[in-house]
Amino acid sequence: MARRLLQDMKERFERLRTPFYYYDTALLAETLAAIKSETDKHEGWHLHYAVKACATPQVLRLIQQAGFGCDCVSGGEIKVCLENGFPADEIVFAGVGKADWEIELALEAGIQYFNVESIPELEVIAEIAKRMNKVADVSFRINPDVGAHTHANITTGLAENKFGISVDDMIHVIRIAEQLPSIHFVGLHFHIGSQILQMDDFEALCHRINDLQVLLEAEGISVKNINVGGGLGIDYENPDEHPVPDFKAYFETYAKHLQLRPGQHLHFELGRAVVGQCGSLITRCLYVKQAKERQFVIVDAGMTELLRPALYGALHKVQNISSLSTPQTYDVVGPICESSDIFAKDCLLPETKRGDLIAIRSAGAYGETMASQYNCRELPKAYTGE
Ligand SMILES: *Cc1c(COP(=O)(O)O)cnc(C)c1O
Repeated sequence: MARRLLQDMKERFERLRTPFYYYDTALLAETLAAIKSETDKHEGWHLHYAVKACATPQVLRLIQQAGFGCDCVSGGEIKVCLENGFPADEIVFAGVGKADWEIELALEAGIQYFNVESIPELEVIAEIAKRMNKVADVSFRINPDVGAHTHANITTGLAENKFGISVDDMIHVIRIAEQLPSIHFVGLHFHIGSQILQMDDFEALCHRINDLQVLLEAEGISVKNINVGGGLGIDYENPDEHPVPDFKAYFETYAKHLQLRPGQHLHFELGRAVVGQCGSLITRCLYVKQAKERQFVIVDAGMTELLRPALYGALHKVQNISSLSTPQTYDVVGPICESSDIFAKDCLLPETKRGDLIAIRSAGAYGETMASQYNCRELPKAYTGE
């Protein structure tokens, strides 16, 4: 399976109703192989794909076949993973607000472990597990108070963020867990944010974990699993130059700086880096509108199909795959009745006409999964492969 340029897909795309998501499964396979080649050399390393990035069945199945487990943040995600062949005992379950039915579902299915984010949550899991005559394996999500150089809305590991349990409370919650017969403490979990491209941020997390391990040892507490979350970023500006993220640098950072104890397992939860570059949102130019000092390309996809630009001011490369004419400057906007429904400002595109196919690149992660039906729109379809 060779990767193909989007321009080569034009004929097929012309027959499909826009907007839709297109996933390049050849690139996904290449990405999965790149990850495996870095991690297979380490014993006791486990990969869990963060399903919230993209839960399209064709994509999930390829990831499952590559031997990944998954990281879920809702009962719905657990169901989707089970339906797509992931073994229950390779599913980990995080989230600050797990509902009772989601906890029951996870215990019933027999997931690997919960990533617990508060004492009240621990108590509810203990109660439900006891009622179901089960013992719940739990890891604690610790908020390491490590900043990440990324968008403010997607840092998660600072003391001010809502996620996790503070470092100061760590020993206390483990002691509580040890007293609960329906709870089995199995590890520590961390996740400092998303779209992180500076390896120093992950290195800082390693140093923090090393310090915590020393503290725990002094207390006689042993930890089976260290889960470092995900967060590796992708190159949104140059998807063709960097279709596969720098997994070597990422995994080597952990191999070099994290001091695992003998027999300890290391878990990763990558989302964006696995699927981000393989997806494009394919849309069509409806109108080119000349306004005062601005030219708008109005496309048939909007923030309902891809929310990231409106939500985070995120940048996606926009490409006209129908035209090779002389470039002009456009604002590329959607049809939704919101001023933030803008994909790109001052974007250089070949001269664009009504009917041209436009690809919004690097949309494989947090694209389709965030789609909404605002304005009574239909959810986008997804296509893969050739
Ligand atoms: C979202 C999330 C991830 C994946 O993050 P990426 O930046 O997409 O790699 C991993 N772990 C947890 C707990 C998450 O919430």
